[in-house]
Amino acid sequence: MTTPDVLAHVTDLLPDGRRNLRFVVIGAGVSGILAVIRLRERGFEDVTVYEKADRLGGTWRENRYPGVACDVPSVLYSYSFAPNPEWSHRFSSGAEIQAYLEKVAADFDVERSILYGEEVVRAVHDGHRWHLRTHTGRTDEADVVIAATGVFHHPFVPGLDGLDDFAGQVLHTAKWDKSQPLTGKRVGIVGTGSSAVQTVGAIVDEVSALILFQRTAQWILPQDNPAYTDEEKAVFRSDPAVQIRLHSEVSELFAEGFANAVVDADSPALTKIAQMCEENLLTVTDPDLRARLTPDHRAACKRLIVAEDFYGAIQRPNASLVSEAIERIEAGGVRTVDRALHDLDVLVLATGFQVDRFLRPMEVVGPTGVKLSETWAERPIAYLSMTVPGLPNLFMVNGPNGPVGNFSLIEVAELQMEYSLQLVDSIAAGEFRLVTPSVEATETHEKARVQAAGKTVWATGCDSWYLDDRGVPMAWPWSFHEFQRRMAAPDLSAYVLTN
Ligand code: NAP
Repeated sequence: MTTPDVLAHVTDLLPDGRRNLRFVVIGAGVSGILAVIRLRERGFEDVTVYEKADRLGGTWRENRYPGVACDVPSVLYSYSFAPNPEWSHRFSSGAEIQAYLEKVAADFDVERSILYGEEVVRAVHDGHRWHLRTHTGRTDEADVVIAATGVFHHPFVPGLDGLDDFAGQVLHTAKWDKSQPLTGKRVGIVGTGSSAVQTVGAIVDEVSALILFQRTAQWILPQDNPAYTDEEKAVFRSDPAVQIRLHSEVSELFAEGFANAVVDADSPALTKIAQMCEENLLTVTDPDLRARLTPDHRAACKRLIVAEDFYGAIQRPNASLVSEAIERIEAGGVRTVDRALHDLDVLVLATGFQVDRFLRPMEVVGPTGVKLSETWAERPIAYLSMTVPGLPNLFMVNGPNGPVGNFSLIEVAELQMEYSLQLVDSIAAGEFRLVTPSVEATETHEKARVQAAGKTVWATGCDSWYLDDRGVPMAWPWSFHEFQRRMAAPDLSAYVLTN
């Protein structure tokens, strides 16, 4: 078929002669907002975003626990095209990020494309278009689906014996209930990940007693989080180029000192990170507490925690660390294996997320009957984290095996969007109608990824949410620069292109 033939059946063309494609974006978080802005920039106006919640923001809307913050510097955790001169600190709170996302969405008029309270439950491709259905029964069609469904949206609730017997309040950090103040209460926190550590620091001075239930000790990189001065903000306001330059500089520094370090377990930068964590631990004065807080794995093996004053908080007189395993939850509190009962009014589960869900539980079926649920039955796999064989014109943002070493998910999303949009441009230009990655390219990529993952610090002998069921890190195992290089332009030979 020649290009004019491909376009022949399309009645709806853009003024410049390109196909006027219809897009459905799933999710109005960081990546969904980005998708709308980038599509509109390219002249695509026929875009609908389906968002299951009643507000945009994704993980920043969901995670509202005390102390929620981002451990990626604010200038880097911003869209490259929307610098924010009002960031109050070098690292931002969750509430500030949520406000930023809402402002960007307002500035770029994103809201008019979003349908709230609509969870897409089914997407079936008939060989021509995607047919979608939401949980309310609404149906829609799209030439291209962008799955901006995020990673941290299915909280993980551990199967602790007796959890339902607890007479007090149970909270998950990702489902926080702000209506119940913690002032003067005895609060227990299960978990020692980023969410737990941030919560500890934020509530310790408010509660009467804080007990942290630790299964695994974590390395903690100290964080210096100065406020931006009024003078700095004035400079950012008067000359946006300053912050854009800062974004590039911090991106480079972060890539060198962090993202590239964690993918090379023998790198000098990682040794430096480990030293900083060890020095930080020395601020714990009680030798017994320090010993119990000392991890048995290498720094950054689990996703590294960056926190301002966790050790200060856990050494407060009203705080205690319980490192005995939890036996069961009882009406009055937590019983540990040493038979001690820790009396509590509130139990906080800072136990993280089911990180292997992505689009699931949505039912996704391709034109030849390929089902995502079957393709991913063992574990989620995608070509370059973005596309799945047999599911045409479906582009994921921050999809499986994609995190780039503690890097800004916004920057990762921007690079992935630009890549996918190059394929979309070709569809709009009539070069092909459907694009799917080949099985061979996907398998070759996955094989290389698994092999490289073995050299990363995540595979040096600890358990973490980065590991899949085989113990293979579910992340980008190469440098950030390699990621940029691979995202620069699609290799069309990796795809099956259909007219
Ligand atoms: P997480 O890192 O997965 O930590 C979950 C914690 O719960 C771990 O300490 C785990 O212990 C513990 N746990 C789970 N089941 C347990 C059980 N049955 N008994 C006792 N302990 C149990 O979760 P998260 O802290 O919510 O963080 C998830 C991810 O969200 C982070 O890694 C990060 O990527 C992101 N996040 C980022 C920020 C930020 O500042 N950018 C802030 C918050 C979250 P084990 O270690 O023993 O498994």
